[in-house]
Amino acid sequence: MNTAAIYHRPESEYAYLYDQETMHVRLKTAKGDIQQVWLLHGDPYNLELEEWYKKPLAMTKILSTNVYDYWFVEVTAPFKRLSYGFSLEGSDGLKAFFGDHGLFPMEEEALQIANNYFRMPYFHEVDRFKAPEWVKETVWYQIFPERFANGDPKNDPKNVLPWNSKDPDRQDYFGGDLQGVLDHLDYLEELGINGIYFCPIFKASSNHKYDTIDYLTIDPDFGDEAVFKKLVSECHKRGIKVMLDAVFNHMGDESPQWQDVLEHGQASPYADWFHVNEFPATYKEGRDFEDAYDLTYDTFAFTPHMPKLNTANPEVQEYLLNVARYWIEEFDIDAWRLDVANEVDHVFWKRFRQTCDAAKKDFYILGEIWHSSQSWLQGDEFHAVMNYAYTDAILDYFVKKRIPVTKMMAEINNQMMLYRDQTNQMQFNILDSHDTPRLLTETKEDKDLAKQVQAFTYIQPGVPCLYYGDEIGLTGGMDPDCRKCMVWEKEKQDQDLLKFTQDLIAVRRKEQKILSEGSTHWVQVSEVSGVIIYERLYGGNVLRGAFNTGIYPATIELVGETLLDNLATLGEQTANLQPKGFILMKG
Ligand code: CA
Repeated sequence: MNTAAIYHRPESEYAYLYDQETMHVRLKTAKGDIQQVWLLHGDPYNLELEEWYKKPLAMTKILSTNVYDYWFVEVTAPFKRLSYGFSLEGSDGLKAFFGDHGLFPMEEEALQIANNYFRMPYFHEVDRFKAPEWVKETVWYQIFPERFANGDPKNDPKNVLPWNSKDPDRQDYFGGDLQGVLDHLDYLEELGINGIYFCPIFKASSNHKYDTIDYLTIDPDFGDEAVFKKLVSECHKRGIKVMLDAVFNHMGDESPQWQDVLEHGQASPYADWFHVNEFPATYKEGRDFEDAYDLTYDTFAFTPHMPKLNTANPEVQEYLLNVARYWIEEFDIDAWRLDVANEVDHVFWKRFRQTCDAAKKDFYILGEIWHSSQSWLQGDEFHAVMNYAYTDAILDYFVKKRIPVTKMMAEINNQMMLYRDQTNQMQFNILDSHDTPRLLTETKEDKDLAKQVQAFTYIQPGVPCLYYGDEIGLTGGMDPDCRKCMVWEKEKQDQDLLKFTQDLIAVRRKEQKILSEGSTHWVQVSEVSGVIIYERLYGGNVLRGAFNTGIYPATIELVGETLLDNLATLGEQTANLQPKGFILMKG
């Protein structure tokens, strides 16, 4: 028995309240090393009478990575508190007990000592990770407002370029605005999305608006407070939720606060609002116009125009928390997306969460974090993160061909085991964004491959987000190229791709319950044929996806009703699936 690999951590993603009465328990062991695991559990005050160790509850091996197996069981407790340990039987036949004081031989003496067990001291509903139900039902659509639609030429910035007259450079303006979004709500409704994620809309000096000047004002290039209020209200009438982008890690250098620091140095009332290491705050120009060196203050990356905020300063906290409250209370937004969320301190984010929870029921908070995010997803900071780590594994296999299919499966399973199930159901799954090349460019404009990878992503746990224009075939490399103007002339839109996207979104929304809460199963993963069969199970229903990622056609067994397919010839009981083809089925 590989005892060094046996791992559990109480009150974490390994042991947490799923709903008010149910606790989820996980255990990690070396792959193939353990035959069976049982949970021994009972009331902490009742070990002698209950003799938990005589009532083993079998755990299920739910997932494996390349090196680990994960075991899972659901338990309840009549007195809302639980002591528990694990009884293990190794593939070598050895038996052991694993608890709060490590590993013991499977003998009654160790099992009769209460302190040898892990504890969930009380099922505190207040501490439970809560998932706003509406998020699970949402298909998001990300809008970069400068490039979606120009609905009001009167607010166009100076030097505005004719719409879509060229591929965007860093300093270009095309005049997109909030009225443009209002004008196209019918289009978005027809597409089937029911949540809009807006890149920043507050007053800022750039076209991307990530360098905020004033958090309490709509950027005049985009419109004003009245048009935004109308936009939120029109969205809500159509059942579309609204998420705004909050840039609380840094401010723009044209903000009055930073300008005051530049003018008055240490004497400025805002001197401690930022991280100035040495006054005066200065920098030298770097290799790129956005970069600097010899900075005397902390910034976002090496961008001298984005001085980092000191969120440990109570004045800064109050200022930003007021911003968070203002847009919820005055404009009824439904969610905040937090830019560079990983570089802001946890103390601030805990206060931020409490502020949002107090302002609106079922408010959703999404952090921009590209790496493992357990620290932010304990239930008292964010609900989810932008799930790049998860979707990168998908892109690395399907599109970039960097990893074998077994590595993709292992990485996806590994990501799932980093978080509670509630989190996995709400993770924000994106294949591209304003910060990455577009999917169609990544696939070298191979539409079938783009369809296949989208279909695979839409049946994963978590909620999908579509980047504006992907549905009509917009292309673009790394930013600023991925921020091209939306194409509105029907004859220039890819109507086939648009229809496909509508159908895929419809499947996702119709099968929402099974796709958000269903367990995940890799039925077939073949490195030889490239055929992947992946299932979601919930309440006796199965949703199965078959994907041919190989180079030869494959024969696929059909199950139940076919929901959506591409490059497939459907027969009575089997289908012929071409390379890059897929079938989604429901039985
Ligand atoms: Ca405009």
